[in-house]
Amino acid sequence: MLKAVNPATGETIREIAEDDARSIGRKASAARSAQRAWARVTIEDRTRAIQRFGDALADRLEPLAALLTAEMGKPIRQSRNELTAMQGRIAFFAEHAAAALADERVADLPGPPPLEERIRYEPLGVIANISAWNYPWFVGSNVFVPALLAGNAVLYKPSEHATLTGLAIAELLWDAGVPRDVFAPVVGAGDAGRALLAQDIDGVFFTGSYATGRAIAEAVAPRLLRVQLELGGKDAAYVADDIDPAAAAAALADGAFYNAGQSCCAVERIYVHRRIAGAFRDAFVAAVRGFVVGDPTDERTYIGPLARREQLAVLEDQVADALRLGAKLECGGKRCETPGSYFEPTVLTGVDHRMKVMREESFGPIIGIQEVDDDSRALELMNDNEYGLTASVYSGDRARAERLLRDANAGTVYWNCCDRVSPRLPWTGRKHSGIGTTLSVAGIRAFAQAKAWHLKSGG
Ligand code: NAD
Repeated sequence: MLKAVNPATGETIREIAEDDARSIGRKASAARSAQRAWARVTIEDRTRAIQRFGDALADRLEPLAALLTAEMGKPIRQSRNELTAMQGRIAFFAEHAAAALADERVADLPGPPPLEERIRYEPLGVIANISAWNYPWFVGSNVFVPALLAGNAVLYKPSEHATLTGLAIAELLWDAGVPRDVFAPVVGAGDAGRALLAQDIDGVFFTGSYATGRAIAEAVAPRLLRVQLELGGKDAAYVADDIDPAAAAAALADGAFYNAGQSCCAVERIYVHRRIAGAFRDAFVAAVRGFVVGDPTDERTYIGPLARREQLAVLEDQVADALRLGAKLECGGKRCETPGSYFEPTVLTGVDHRMKVMREESFGPIIGIQEVDDDSRALELMNDNEYGLTASVYSGDRARAERLLRDANAGTVYWNCCDRVSPRLPWTGRKHSGIGTTLSVAGIRAFAQAKAWHLKSGG
């Protein structure tokens, strides 16, 4: 049995029967047969099912937000935000899927005999969607919504830390008209994930850590499956000397500490121009000290517990490593002495790239702030990392910011904002942040395979 544990209290919420290789095999073969019929349903009808899913989600927002908060510790207001923002994603996919997947007649050659060239976007077939816990609605729906719209069957393995939300997603989709065998949840942790990969599938769409993503890519490499990986980040922000330090500090503190820093695109490293470093640091630390840490069901709470208790030791190690190498602790620095997996919001200054806190993904409420002398040093440091998910520049001068962002080696760049995802823009990581694209029109086509048609009249 899989235990769903409340990270705020350590209490078991529910025990859930886990899938094993046999039950996963049964789901995979049922999905194979069901997918053929689903692909023949019109795109308009598939779109209507997804819209009904969105409507049901809006109707049940409060209990679904409470469930998310209970099983992963997300503060209740942030759980509601995630669910509310789902409407924008669903609307985007519903509006664009039919056009993105429609046949394209790309040439009519006169002949004789005349010849038509056409592209058709066929579904991939049965796909595995192995997902993360930090934004289970967002990261799951980036995959299963366009995948279903494109006519695929989805074997969906939610994270073991968000299984109840995963099962709620399945119920809503089934009620909305997606057949049970077309969207089948797989319950379990790494073993269930591995067993899922061994099935007769046509693609793997994964969200999670670099280590697991790499293991998955290696496991399926001999079968040359379609593989997309949305992985971790060590996202950098640069604060130039021509911006109000207090405003930049408030925005970046939110970008670093929202969801207790457990966002793939959380700001994890800050570089600040030496001329405004003192004012920026003071405003940043004041903003962090103002964050309410505590019970995630309390409306006032901004920072809840970490979803995974093991991460507390990772954060403690990053703090100890930084202090040993000469960093200064401005606030926080240790786990809280309350029950549950809480870590104090932590700010380190005097940091540099020898330190783990500036190199390795933290995925928690902790940040390093490093001073730099000029823009070129900031850019060099921003790109000096194995990950490449997002990068942001805060500056009063758009041209200055754009010069830096043009050379930032990241899939997403921000001017005077951060930690933002839009359904209209491609979401894609570089280097260890992943391969492939979700969201945008490219993130719809990702779930189709193009077939080239050469059609000559006249025999
Ligand atoms: P994780 O890698 O520990 O687990 C992700 C999923 O993989 C889970 O469902 C897990 O059960 C499964 N899994 C584990 N081992 C497996 C194996 N050998 N084979 C198949 N499946 C296996 O990651 P996590 O802790 O759930 O998520 C946090 C990570 O996800 C962070 O690194 C974060 O940055 C990243 N993330 C990235 C994005 C993005 O869009 N780029 C979004 C959210 C999270």
